[in-house]
Amino acid sequence: MANNATLMQYFYWDYPADGMLWNELAHNAGDLAAAGITALWLPPPCKAERGIQDVGYGIYDLFDLGEFDQKGAVRTKYGTRQELEAAVQAAHTAGLQVYLDVVVNHKAGADRTEVVMGTPVSHDNRNIEIGPPREIEVWTYFNFPGRAGTYSDFVWNWQHFDAVDYDQRTGSVGTIYKLRDKQFDTPVDPERGNFDYLLFADLDMGSDEVRAELNRWGDWIVQTLGIDGFRFDAAKHIRFFFFNEWLDHVRATAGRDLFAVGEYWTPDAGTLGWFIEQTGRRMSVFDFRLHFNLRDASHGGGSFDMTRIFDGTQVRQDPALAVTFVDNHDSYREDAVADWFKPLAYALILLREGGQPCVFYPDYYGAPGRTSHRQILDRLLQVRRDHAYGQQNDYFDHPDVVGWTRLGDADHPRAIAVALSDGPGGAKRMNVNRPNRNFADATGNIGGVIITGNDGWGDFRCNGGSVSVWVEQ
Ligand code: CA
Repeated sequence: MANNATLMQYFYWDYPADGMLWNELAHNAGDLAAAGITALWLPPPCKAERGIQDVGYGIYDLFDLGEFDQKGAVRTKYGTRQELEAAVQAAHTAGLQVYLDVVVNHKAGADRTEVVMGTPVSHDNRNIEIGPPREIEVWTYFNFPGRAGTYSDFVWNWQHFDAVDYDQRTGSVGTIYKLRDKQFDTPVDPERGNFDYLLFADLDMGSDEVRAELNRWGDWIVQTLGIDGFRFDAAKHIRFFFFNEWLDHVRATAGRDLFAVGEYWTPDAGTLGWFIEQTGRRMSVFDFRLHFNLRDASHGGGSFDMTRIFDGTQVRQDPALAVTFVDNHDSYREDAVADWFKPLAYALILLREGGQPCVFYPDYYGAPGRTSHRQILDRLLQVRRDHAYGQQNDYFDHPDVVGWTRLGDADHPRAIAVALSDGPGGAKRMNVNRPNRNFADATGNIGGVIITGNDGWGDFRCNGGSVSVWVEQ
């Protein structure tokens, strides 16, 4: 039986624009695999509008992985294509899977403008037109002169986009214009009437030419880098059926079951359930609601009701397709889980049965102004890899101190008991089905051992605002 899988988001928004991420990854891959990481989510590797400063979401050219002199440099923020290939190879050599961040909702930084009729629509309800059609000058023509047709000679023009929010003639920023006879794609997230449009020039997924080009690109990127999966940016803004067609196509060409997770940004499990149904269970989704619960608990000053920590979460609703995370490159900037709570939060995603957990780079390595939690994370990752298996017994029955046990399986025979509290410390009486056995706290937070009784139960302790992970000795 395979060990538990653990994803790491290997970047963050403010990572330095020094072109060193791919080289650093190649250097660290072996250590990460040894620590218990099994897969990496890499940032968008394609050339983007702001060149080496761009995190990658202002995507310009899908086929430029840091190979062509475009947007002011050959390399991307993270390095050159050669360095990217070497990093993926190093990750594979270490036994890590590699998932790429795929940005196909929009394109930015067009090569020149086009003049087309556009109809302004309401920002708050995109189905409502707020003025007559008029002539606008839009940045929608992409022919990538620096790449000159290498890998693909597809030229993008306004007919491949639904909408923009910039008119060069008037300099008006922020007004959303539907282009000529275009309609927004459906189904997409229903917020604001129709949330197809997010920003920049929005791809028209109703265009056969667009979908064919994206299929070609999908085959190319999998073949070129040998990657193992995808994280889809802005999934709620992309026609859901795109994912069905694209994933079926790319998986069939590759002959492999490539992993996929969508960034469907909502705390609402009902909406996520609908998305999963529409996409036929082809892809996982991030558990944003769990992030919000963890954030709220971390800012609750000990007053959060810990019996409700999994309320409304995707991991409770549909654990098989939930990617759980504590923070990501967006949330950590304004909406982060507080540092004192991070060990508890990571225990809550790493040591449980449900969900595919994702560790965030700065939580592990630290970053300017960010605390590294590597010491505790290494311990939790080791327990996840070696001991967090088998039947799970839950004890989320007290507003402060909660816990659970895992009873192990044939390949991982030791039991564990996790106790944590957002308030005062205490003990939780829990069943590990191991009579008269010693358990020690793998976090090192509490010394000594706890001995279970004849009945296989124990009183497992934790300190205030802390977590203890008791492993059978
Ligand atoms: Ca869109």
